[in-house]
Amino acid sequence: METLGEPGSAVKVVASRNGVIYEMRAGVPLPPMVTLTEVSKIYIRGSDRICGLDHVTLDIGSGSFCAFVGPSGCGKSTLLNVIAGLDLPTSGTIHLDGRSTAGYSSDDWTRTRRHSIGIVFQAFHLIPGLTVEENVAFPLLLRGEQGRKVRERVADVLALVRMTHRAAHRPGELSGGEQQRVAVARAIVHEPKILLADEPTGNLDSQHGAEIIGLLKTLVQEFGHTVLLVTHSAAAAEAADYVWAMRDGRLMTRTMQMTSAQGV
Ligand code: ADP
Ligand code: MG
Repeated sequence: METLGEPGSAVKVVASRNGVIYEMRAGVPLPPMVTLTEVSKIYIRGSDRICGLDHVTLDIGSGSFCAFVGPSGCGKSTLLNVIAGLDLPTSGTIHLDGRSTAGYSSDDWTRTRRHSIGIVFQAFHLIPGLTVEENVAFPLLLRGEQGRKVRERVADVLALVRMTHRAAHRPGELSGGEQQRVAVARAIVHEPKILLADEPTGNLDSQHGAEIIGLLKTLVQEFGHTVLLVTHSAAAAEAADYVWAMRDGRLMTRTMQMTSAQGV
């Protein structure tokens, strides 16, 4: 697994080249982790053409926390889905960690998700018949891993999300906030480079929502994850370093938060 230096240890500065942001850490530009070039997604429904994404160009550096905000139907989930290969763009190109995904087969996408991408959904999507521990271990078992290493890794991430005491419980016995903490643990157990979170606070009250957003921030600051958060909540987006507003499938404005900007 590629490491990103000492995440969170150095001052973040940003520089702009051709309007695209490159993050710097300790004076070294971080390589882009997610790059979209002119990505469009058109859905055909009967005789209607519905524009999910409209020529989206985006460059996200390793280890940044980005939020995408906008009203329902503006294309937020479509954006995450095409980055995860759960949906294919109609046109445009996507690079993940410097690699083009053009021509990826569904097996290639499955492998990419199993190794490099973690996803958290609004509805948690835990497997009801499995315990917390088994849910979190699931992505590792899918990759054929087993034994002590799996148990240790699961214990580590459960401790990180403060769910060790619930390891033997089933999802139905947990509150919404607890279920989402388990879902975050499951999404990071395989040490993905990219973590996608689609309205992760949508089913939670504000206190538990804030806890989940705090957890995402910790993953960026302490573990160097690259996090893309989709939300309709401006309050949730406040934790991110960069915030894009979306409308009608387009990226509108980008705001930088809590970073010092150079040459932008
Ligand atoms: P958001 O997540 O911001 O609420 P979505 O990305 O889900 O928005 O949807 C963007 C647009 O694409 C909406 O108009 C939606 O109806 C349409 N859309 C999304 N998925 C599909 C689909 N599978 N088939 C047809 N239209 C879709
Ligand atoms: Mg959505």
